[in-house]
Amino acid sequence: MQQYIEIDSVAAAPNSKASGYVTVPGTNTQIPLIIVNGADDGHILLVTAGVHGAEYPSIEAALRLAAELDPAQMRGAVLIVPVVSQSAFFERQTFILPEDGKNPNRQFPGKATGTLSERIAHTLTNKIAARASAWVDLHGGDLPEALVPLIGYLRSDDPVLSASVNSMVTAFGIQIVVSPAQLVGTTLHAAAELRIPALIAEAGQLGRRDPADTQRLVTGCTNVARRLGILPGDVAPVRVREFRDWPWVRSSHAGCWYPAVQVGETVREGQVIGAVTDLFGVRQADYHAPASGVVLLLWQALAVRVGDPLAGVAVA
Ligand SMILES: [Zn+2]
Repeated sequence: MQQYIEIDSVAAAPNSKASGYVTVPGTNTQIPLIIVNGADDGHILLVTAGVHGAEYPSIEAALRLAAELDPAQMRGAVLIVPVVSQSAFFERQTFILPEDGKNPNRQFPGKATGTLSERIAHTLTNKIAARASAWVDLHGGDLPEALVPLIGYLRSDDPVLSASVNSMVTAFGIQIVVSPAQLVGTTLHAAAELRIPALIAEAGQLGRRDPADTQRLVTGCTNVARRLGILPGDVAPVRVREFRDWPWVRSSHAGCWYPAVQVGETVREGQVIGAVTDLFGVRQADYHAPASGVVLLLWQALAVRVGDPLAGVAVA
């Protein structure tokens, strides 16, 4: 028999949907939450989006998932946070929260008495994720970034957790997978501390609202819910192409960026991937692939600052 689910002011009876806001203590900020509570008991999947406020297909996918899920068909529940970082969303702010200039996906599991990013991370982790038995965090390329759809997860020494994560990753439906040993401060890090299986799924790029990217993420979340037994039906596992890391090349100059490769292209270690000029058009530096691999992330904006990520190259 499924239970009532109540988180802050949002309460959903069995076989119902409810939506409302979860308060971030000590701030004026609230986190929108939709609870889709099934008719019978089972796993609780958390789906978050908009940790980065301008990764639009992730946000649209979360909203569409909430609309499409039918609680009468579900065992367990799906908790959906369509926009974690509301202020970044409304300001069309890339990477960071405008209030504190911090990347929210480097602040997890957060701090109860920290800056706004840290408090949001703490609230999401402790009020919402702590209630879940699995976590899918949706992302994509941000406004200046081209991106190949990919899944990220953290490798773990725990065989039970590893098996659960692997089961979610192969269900999702995106073939490119990056599995570093550490991603400190990310939602994956918070999930690891909570001992729940988690993945980050990324699709979409450049501020576009490509329906194919949105659908890819909706389908992936639905597949994970099936794999967890929340939704009926089987999911055939996908053969994934796994990379152990994707080191980023960051700009050490401010100026104009001219990429020399395409996103998705396979490059050799040391190959020139682009150049930065100053504002007089004078070349300041060539940038090189740090390893042989596939360009999964590529900066597309003309303007680049010191520290901006020019490319991420996946290595086996
Ligand atoms: Zn992101």
